Amino acid sequence: MTSAADRSDRPTRRSPRDRRPRGYSAAALVRQGLRRTPAWEPAWREHELRGSYDVVVVGGGIHGLATAYYLATRHGIRDVAVLERSYIGGGGSGRNTAIVRSNYLTPEGVAFYDRSLDLYRALSAELDFNIMFSRRGHLTLAHSDASLRTMRWRAEVNKVQGVDSEVIGPADVARLAPAVDVSDHPRFPVLGALYHPPGGIIRHDAVVWGYARAADLAGAHVHQRTEVTGIDVDRGRVTGVRTNRGTIATRQVVNCTAGWASLVNDMVGVRTPVVTAPLQAAVTEPVKPFLSPVLVSGTLHVYVSQTPRGELVFGASVDPFAQYSMRGSLEFIEGLATHVLELMPGLSKMRVLRQWAGLCDMTPDYSPIMGPTDVEGFCVDIGWGTYGFKAGPVSGEQMARCVAEGRPPALIAPFGLERFAAGHLVGEKGAASVGH
Ligand SMILES: Cc1cc2nc3c(=O)[nH]c(=O)nc-3n(C[C@H](O)[C@H](O)[C@H](O)COP(=O)(O)OP(=O)(O)OC[C@H]3O[C@@H](n4cnc5c(N)ncnc54)[C@H](O)[C@@H]3O)c2cc1C
Repeated sequence: MTSAADRSDRPTRRSPRDRRPRGYSAAALVRQGLRRTPAWEPAWREHELRGSYDVVVVGGGIHGLATAYYLATRHGIRDVAVLERSYIGGGGSGRNTAIVRSNYLTPEGVAFYDRSLDLYRALSAELDFNIMFSRRGHLTLAHSDASLRTMRWRAEVNKVQGVDSEVIGPADVARLAPAVDVSDHPRFPVLGALYHPPGGIIRHDAVVWGYARAADLAGAHVHQRTEVTGIDVDRGRVTGVRTNRGTIATRQVVNCTAGWASLVNDMVGVRTPVVTAPLQAAVTEPVKPFLSPVLVSGTLHVYVSQTPRGELVFGASVDPFAQYSMRGSLEFIEGLATHVLELMPGLSKMRVLRQWAGLCDMTPDYSPIMGPTDVEGFCVDIGWGTYGFKAGPVSGEQMARCVAEGRPPALIAPFGLERFAAGHLVGEKGAASVGH
């Protein structure tokens, strides 16, 4: 393996001093249209891999890219590399169903996800990239007295923290989502719902590309097709990272590899209670807009939203086995169709266009694992399961602070790895699973 130590850093396109982005605006669109060459310049540059970086972030999903962006913009730490073994957004960040909300169950979870929603609201302007945040309202349906009780509990925890959530009855569900069958005919009738008006959907690719572009402009290097194959540790502290493109000296590594997190943790001997399982999703042909809110049914293991283009996007629970394969299955689509039709019988003629899968790093309490580990210089930002896209901005912000200040900020302190040994779990199963 060759060392990258003697390679110079030569940006392939614009001069490194030319930091100003060509802004995306109506005027830029007209200018671009009048040019002879139709192609827009690439949103971020390619760089030679340096022989050393102050911080190496492993994983080019939303968490890795956001961490690099906030390190550079909030803490002036620009000597940062994001290493992505395939293409950015090729993991869960480009495969999710893009639902954002903050109506969690624990005070720690609500405060954390609500900060992310705050950041999302301002993100298009901050990144100069339209992330297409569409506030739709989020309905978690209750089909039993037990789930109604959990909804009330969540609504109260939310309200205490200033998060807009309330329990509504079937008539209000029908008003917000007329396609839902709220009669007493279904096997699991709708008894009510937790209504969370601030919830919605975003364009996940745009978020990933926006962070990549902004991180690059701020001075971080995003390296695609760069796989971390080993991490060097000397006397309990990180000294370097080995990749398929050479070795990098560094004293700080952040593991943001979600479904692959255990494999990267193994490189330094850090053990975490993470199990990787596939999560599948599907999308239909586009139809006229008829479904405004995001609908979730934990009992039926299904959730659905309608994109601005009119497609219905469906998701479900994780597959009931641990594996790293990202293949879709017939069982999934059969079960999904059955449950969707119980909820909205009028959809029986709709055609599914595609299904796909991604990997989810599940933890026992359905909360993430964030912060330092016993190996000095090795931090984790993992355990994102089926709910980590909405947490991207706040995780990046807080992990950057954790690296810069050398200790976890208060907002993520409850999510430390040590909680499993201490028994201080942050139980979010009732609010995170099938809930997005
Ligand atoms: C079908 C589906 C639907 C979902 N829906 C939602 C939703 O609606 N809302 C929500 O909030 N969340 C949702 N999620 C979860 C969410 O997508 C993830 O939690 C989130 O994207 C994780 O982001 P990340 O940046 O941590 O990881 P990822 O985006 O998975 O990125 C990790 C990256 O690490 C790279 N990598 C792995 N190993 C190495 C290595 N050795 N060297 C270099 N790079 C490496 C991978 O290639 C990958 O690109 C969903 C997930 C799936 C699969």
